[in-house]
Amino acid sequence: MNFTETRGNDGQFPLEMTFSQAILSPMSSFGGLYSPKSLPDLGLPFLEKHLQSDYKTLATAILAEFEVDIEQSIIDEALSLYDQFDDPQNPVPVVKVRDDLYVSELYHGPTRAFKDMALQPFGTVLSAIAKARNEKYLILAATSGDTGPAALDTFRNRENVQVACLYPEGGTSDVQRLQMVTENAPNLKVIGIKGDFDDAQSALKKLLTSDSFKAKLQENQISLSAANSVNFGRIIFQTIYHLHSYLELIRQGAIQMGEKVYLNVPSGNFGNALGGYYAFKMGLPVEKILIASNSNNVLTQFIQTGVYDLRDLNVIPTSSPAMDILKSSNIERILFDLFGAQRTKELMLALDKEKHYALTQSELAEIQAVFSADFCTDDEGEAYIKQAFSEGYLMDPHTATCFKSYDTCRQHPELKTIVYSTAEWTKFSPIIANALTGKSGLHDIEALKVISEQAGVSIPAKIQKLFETEISQSTVIDKRDIEQEILNFLG
Ligand SMILES: *Cc1c(COP(=O)(O)O)cnc(C)c1O
Repeated sequence: MNFTETRGNDGQFPLEMTFSQAILSPMSSFGGLYSPKSLPDLGLPFLEKHLQSDYKTLATAILAEFEVDIEQSIIDEALSLYDQFDDPQNPVPVVKVRDDLYVSELYHGPTRAFKDMALQPFGTVLSAIAKARNEKYLILAATSGDTGPAALDTFRNRENVQVACLYPEGGTSDVQRLQMVTENAPNLKVIGIKGDFDDAQSALKKLLTSDSFKAKLQENQISLSAANSVNFGRIIFQTIYHLHSYLELIRQGAIQMGEKVYLNVPSGNFGNALGGYYAFKMGLPVEKILIASNSNNVLTQFIQTGVYDLRDLNVIPTSSPAMDILKSSNIERILFDLFGAQRTKELMLALDKEKHYALTQSELAEIQAVFSADFCTDDEGEAYIKQAFSEGYLMDPHTATCFKSYDTCRQHPELKTIVYSTAEWTKFSPIIANALTGKSGLHDIEALKVISEQAGVSIPAKIQKLFETEISQSTVIDKRDIEQEILNFLG
């Protein structure tokens, strides 16, 4: 499969790229991204064939359909990282919460959030390609709290790769911050920024497209790539679990082959939802993809009205910080897939320059044929956490946002819904402890104990250990100083 540019070609970038090239250089002309030229048509025969396949077998088959230009031995090594998940036989458990509501748990990897689903294999693939080409890479990651730990974990001590990870100071939970600042491998640099996640992500995109920055790296024979979901190397691994979850519902006797389901996705940068969209385009029987936002509800507004409007908006810090995002990168790939490069360029440049754009009525109808959306306030989210707990299910505040769209967006309540759970309770314990007990303002370490007692679950050793580990990364800087800080790190 080949990749093409979402905003057309400026004569500088290649018109087309293979998968491995798109992983190494994710940005394209006019500040656009690379997207697949076409998708494999899998349909029901593929699902029938893989009804009894385990996760790795299914993943291998999907990657083969994508015709990725990566050696099979590297793919095998990458997928073997799912063996470190809680249950190597079933890295993504799908749990029945109600008769019509199943939760696909994407957080059973090493850093306890869904970012591991893609970043674990991505780390192997990227480092292997870099080694095979005898090239060195600097990987930039901007994080609202989960991408950072997952990127650092996957690249720790890997050859030919260094990582600079930008996080908004004060914008993450204690556990998320500790997961990053206790990393001490020599190839990893963690940088706190005075600002929010959009500031971190904008700084990342600016560096990725800065010719002078790239020239300085080249002096040290270092090339530049990114671990954010602007990188298709992540998206491809995020299509797999959507198919897996559907097959799991069949195996559990919840649905018949071919029966439609709702996919319900807590969304920020729209990578998870884009994976669901591609799965749907490849033939997964999906009624609609329900997009859950928090109070930063720009995605909900967009899907409900066709207007993407950033004017007068500032990020509101919420209980689901991984979704505190206004500029959602992967919407661009949806626009490209539905409306083509010329229109995508027009819309995205309008967003950059005028901070808003509006779809036509017919374009909006195309979006709404696939997506429906609603947003969940923090108070509503806490109520959903409490309600689910009373039904025997412990969930995090990101997962909780889906319960709102589950309540308000389904036109066919007889169909089953798959909610994607993106984080373990351990990553956002103060919010959950507050929802369950009314105790507010707890530190993570106290909240973990409260929940552990309430729910009768133990605190995972890896999380407990974070609080006893020495802090190795204490850099916190102004966003203007990011470039220099990274160059200093590279030496
Ligand atoms: C990253 C993340 C999200 C948002 O996922 P996107 O793919 O960026 O839309 C939601 N919840 C959690 C816990 C996350 O880490």
